[in-house]
Amino acid sequence: LTYTSTRPGLHIIHIAAEMAPVAKVGGLGDVITGLSKALQRKGHLVEIVLPKYDCIQYDLIADLKALDVVIESYFDGQLFRNKIWVGTIEGLPVYFIEPHHPAKFFWRGTYYGEHDDFKRFSFFSRAALELLYEAGKRPDIIHCHDWQTAFVAPLYWDIYAAKGLNSARICFTCHNFEHQGTAPASELSSCGLDVHQMNRSDRMQDNSAHDRVNPVKGAIVFSNIVTTVSPTYAQEVCTAEGGRGLHETLKSFSKKFVGILNGIDTDAWNPSTDKYISAQFHADDLRGKAENKNAIRKHLKLSWSNSSQPLVGCITRLVPQKGVHLIRHAIYRTLELGGQFVLLGSSPVLHIQREFEDIAMHFNSHPDVRLLLKYDDALSHLIYAASDMFIIPSLFEPCGLTQMIAMRYGSVPIARKTGGLNDSVFDVNDNTVPEQYRNGFTFLPPTEQGLSSVMGRAFRYYSTNPEGWQQLIQKDMTLDFSWDSSASQYEELYERSVIRARTAAARV
Ligand code: ADP
Repeated sequence: LTYTSTRPGLHIIHIAAEMAPVAKVGGLGDVITGLSKALQRKGHLVEIVLPKYDCIQYDLIADLKALDVVIESYFDGQLFRNKIWVGTIEGLPVYFIEPHHPAKFFWRGTYYGEHDDFKRFSFFSRAALELLYEAGKRPDIIHCHDWQTAFVAPLYWDIYAAKGLNSARICFTCHNFEHQGTAPASELSSCGLDVHQMNRSDRMQDNSAHDRVNPVKGAIVFSNIVTTVSPTYAQEVCTAEGGRGLHETLKSFSKKFVGILNGIDTDAWNPSTDKYISAQFHADDLRGKAENKNAIRKHLKLSWSNSSQPLVGCITRLVPQKGVHLIRHAIYRTLELGGQFVLLGSSPVLHIQREFEDIAMHFNSHPDVRLLLKYDDALSHLIYAASDMFIIPSLFEPCGLTQMIAMRYGSVPIARKTGGLNDSVFDVNDNTVPEQYRNGFTFLPPTEQGLSSVMGRAFRYYSTNPEGWQQLIQKDMTLDFSWDSSASQYEELYERSVIRARTAAARV
């Protein structure tokens, strides 16, 4: 369990609620694995702490074993035992915390959306720090993510640094400011934080409901480094419209707040080695791409007589953020323009799931439209590989990964200019951007008209300029969306923060 570092790199520990591919709900899971692998390749020691959910994909964990230790952590005035497991995911060492608490926090068959999520994750945040403390770890950086592990920041400075777990700087990344995990202030005491100390306007008190605490605000206040997942989103959340009540807090901590564009895991998303797709391919030989298009059309019983009929893909959680009304409109617009449409998505919102089930039923045996309302990683690879265009009409988008994955598989993005989409998709007609970066089609007004018009442009380009389209695909496939440069930015932030702390310590 203990490890003494003799390496020159940093010791970085991520505490998170998701990790791809074993426990993934959305982009957060991809980031934990992709960023950790890139940091490990740069010579740092990276470890990850996750909850031991019952619904983890256990077959993807190597050498999983229970450790011969029990970690007792505080909650609701008592100590609870936690069994600790360790395993390897994609070459990364991962600790799993299994609480022996009567509420069976992680035995729910699901990751999020439980009535007691605040308890589940504040318990986990505390137990994770307890594990690091009792294992005698001396990390340089503890990196927590989203509201679920935001508790780590105040817990660290309020309780654990004083106990002696004091080697680390805390980095907090908010992957989506829509989710802040606020709760009645009284709930905070369960994990050992002092409600009176914390429910203050300069600490964890929610900016709009003063009897509630806001874990994301707490992490912004208490962390040494605060990041979000793209430069444009970092600007957007500092405005009243985008900040969801936290814009003033973010502005007052602007010195430690920065937006870093996520990368994608280029091993997991590689059309030339991908085992899930029907035919592998690369930018210099696109024959495999045509085979995938054919394969998915047959697999989904779509018409496959016309190989040049464009196929539009969409892979997403169906939540309001993603512009569901525009996604629905894109289906009909695609038909109008003579294309085919494949949607892979599922919704945690009942009425949205029902609405799309109705649309799916309506197009049940249609030759040009198929809706698959589920989560299916293998199928997602095939859709990226098979589609000619990929639609992302988000109302807001902190970073977005699907546009980058689509490009890597030669599917040209049609995206709304917001957040991370604005930092990664550049319109073919945008003269303000150097030619070599123009890689897709963008639109601004979140309206059916705006979307209809950009789709019309994309279809026209596709049908009237096949050579130009092929060059566009090849360009998109060779753009670098790997984690390398983003991981370097995190590395620099970590290093600067560690040096600053050491310099300050040397002065005293
Ligand atoms: P978010 O984190 O908001 O869901 P991102 O674009 O950052 O959006 O990340 C989405 C990730 O989840 C991508 O890897 C995408 O391929 C995957 N994904 C989304 N919906 C599905 C689905 N229904 N089946 C398989 N993968 C999905």
